Amino acid sequence: MSDEQRVEIAIVGAGIAGIATAYYLCTQHGRKSVVLIDSQQPMSFTSAQSGDNYRNWWPHPTMVDFSNRSIDLMEAVARETSNVFNLTRHGYLLATRRHSVDELVADLYAGYGDQADRSIRIRSTASAAAYSATLATDWTAAPDGADVLSEPSLIRSVFPALSSDIRHVIHIRRAGDISSQQLAAFMLERIRAAGGRRIAAELKGVSMGNRFELDLETPNGTQRLDADLVINAAGPFASNVAAMLGVELPIQNIFQQKIAFEDSRRAVPRDLPFAIDLDATELDWAADVRELLAEDPARSFLTRTLPGGRHCRPEGGRNGTWVKLGWAYNADVSEPRYDLANEPKLDEHFPEIVIRGAASLLPALAAYVDSPPTRFSHYGGYYSMTEENWPLIGPMGPDGAFTVAALSGFGSMAACAAGSLCAAWACAGDLPDYAADLSIRRYADTAQLSELRKYVNKGLL
Ligand SMILES: Cc1cc2nc3c(=O)[nH]c(=O)nc-3n(C[C@H](O)[C@H](O)[C@H](O)COP(=O)(O)OP(=O)(O)OC[C@H]3O[C@@H](n4cnc5c(N)ncnc54)[C@H](O)[C@@H]3O)c2cc1C
Repeated sequence: MSDEQRVEIAIVGAGIAGIATAYYLCTQHGRKSVVLIDSQQPMSFTSAQSGDNYRNWWPHPTMVDFSNRSIDLMEAVARETSNVFNLTRHGYLLATRRHSVDELVADLYAGYGDQADRSIRIRSTASAAAYSATLATDWTAAPDGADVLSEPSLIRSVFPALSSDIRHVIHIRRAGDISSQQLAAFMLERIRAAGGRRIAAELKGVSMGNRFELDLETPNGTQRLDADLVINAAGPFASNVAAMLGVELPIQNIFQQKIAFEDSRRAVPRDLPFAIDLDATELDWAADVRELLAEDPARSFLTRTLPGGRHCRPEGGRNGTWVKLGWAYNADVSEPRYDLANEPKLDEHFPEIVIRGAASLLPALAAYVDSPPTRFSHYGGYYSMTEENWPLIGPMGPDGAFTVAALSGFGSMAACAAGSLCAAWACAGDLPDYAADLSIRRYADTAQLSELRKYVNKGLL
């Protein structure tokens, strides 16, 4: 058997999860015989749909630690590469009209755990000028932790674009955006330099003898590849790949949509952090439209209360003109398909729905309801997720098989921590404290699992 047909580590899937895993296998563990198998171009499926936002805001310390680890690793790459992937740190603004912010602050305390006392700042007396001075644009200078702003005049002065009925804003400071495509391009270069390679093929089946025998369908016909270790990084198809190894993964795929458009009216200030309306809402339809929607079983939900989580951010920096909007309100499970443009859940009315929804937070967006943007793109992909919205990283079924999957709506930001964790499992390296909890082993602890599933806030955006 030629070297071409034998490999130490085969990774199925060249999205951000597979690429980051290969990167850490090559750079942290010195592995050279690593292949990335994918029939599509790298970063062209779910990873191409990402909003590329990141944050360390989660309601549970395990996910906060995991996210902080990922941000540490992203910052290390940013330092090494003169920030080739445009990491920014403008923060996340969580906005609410609730009278009391106590419950949200309690969630922050729970998430930040031991670090909470020094991470959370209640800004009852800050002056607008003093607060504005902390809004550094350079990621190296931005503060950590979270600021809670409840003084109306402070909120209006610092974030004048927000609706005047917003009573509290929580500003998560270790948060911002990246270009995950640029990050992946850098990683692929390093993987290649270390001896790793790509194979354009779809994995069709796996047999297990002394090694894993992978049946690959390539553009030139079928090919067999033998591997000592197999890593399942197949995104929404991770359950299919796991099934080839006799393993059932508790993953569901839920389609979520976004729009991006040229903000020709300058409705969104270019320095606005990623802004999220946390409050449930009812959309403001004209009476005749409301009646029509109510009669349509597929759309009647649009006349009822919809969940919070509508979000918006400027795209392309201060000199850009585009904005991105999203709202992960869909809860129906889909069978994943590659042909995303024909996914039944891609709703032609979504652009209007999300603009209407986001206008309750950023009223200037309302101008686009009757006069929609002319240059825009509407797209979507699967949040591939477990019920508790934690990822699945680590050993999976037979010895030598691993998974790095269920990265839901946080895979771009978590890729570095997920890839480095999966690489550590595969190479028997040092594991962080959260390793078992983020692996399939957590399903053995039914008490913890039912506790996690009770969380109303699962960190889904
Ligand atoms: C609309 C939307 C917005 C998002 N916004 C954000 C955000 O702001 N921040 C954030 O951090 N995350 C975000 N995410 C989540 C993030 O995009 C995903 O978690 C991440 O891209 C998942 O990466 P992946 O590598 O696991 O999967 P993918 O990118 O889907 O890669 C999996 C790859 O496996 C390949 N594959 C599957 N089966 C096989 C097989 N049998 N043989 C060979 N190859 C196979 C596929 O071709 C694919 O290329 C968003 C997701 C969506 C859908």
